[in-house]
Amino acid sequence: MKDQVSYQHQWLNDVSGEHDLSELPVGKVVCVGRNYADHAKELNNPVPTEPILFIKPATAIVPFSPGFSFPSDQGECHHETEIALLIGSPLSRATQEQARQVIIGLGLGLDLTLRDLQAKLKSKSHPWEVAKAFDGACPLTPFIPVTEFEGFTRLTVSLSVNGQERQQGNTEQMLFPILSLVSRISQTFTLLPGDVVLTGTPSGVAPLAVGDNLEATLDSRFSFKSQVVSA
Ligand code: ZN
Repeated sequence: MKDQVSYQHQWLNDVSGEHDLSELPVGKVVCVGRNYADHAKELNNPVPTEPILFIKPATAIVPFSPGFSFPSDQGECHHETEIALLIGSPLSRATQEQARQVIIGLGLGLDLTLRDLQAKLKSKSHPWEVAKAFDGACPLTPFIPVTEFEGFTRLTVSLSVNGQERQQGNTEQMLFPILSLVSRISQTFTLLPGDVVLTGTPSGVAPLAVGDNLEATLDSRFSFKSQVVSA
């Protein structure tokens, strides 16, 4: 049996929040499809009027750095670079204000997507679970305490691959802004301490290859490097 890469939520380097993350379980990841209109357009999808939600299990989470891998025998695997929210307290059927109070950290996540497999599943109207929820499908960076940010608006996210910028987004472009999104998620899925929310990808998704060097930034202040390694 292959060893699982161990993952535990953690704060970035020297910053630490008021919460001890070593006590926090690693929970599910609730994701949203097409939360940036420009990404919906690039895949020729209609712009949604309700968030398109799906879940990756805790077993999908791996550390973003120093490297991660993906299944190499299933066609293209795309990067989707997304702002990740770390949940610190239970949340169910919540208002936006209640949602604000349970988000304890911000980081970045990759919603790795086996795009060829997903396209095949979509064409048959089948669930796309196996294309997005496989082991290792959610590399996550360390988190930064939410107190380091001035709210959830005008946050930027970017990804460069081998020195070329591929993705660039701003939370102002979200169809469902962060607090609205978390409130809506909580109407259907109870969020628990240690759960993560991925908030959707801007345009520029593209296939990854073994050896690619990645640099992702959050809010133009926090930078995370990684490399695609062979599975
Ligand atoms: Zn995504």
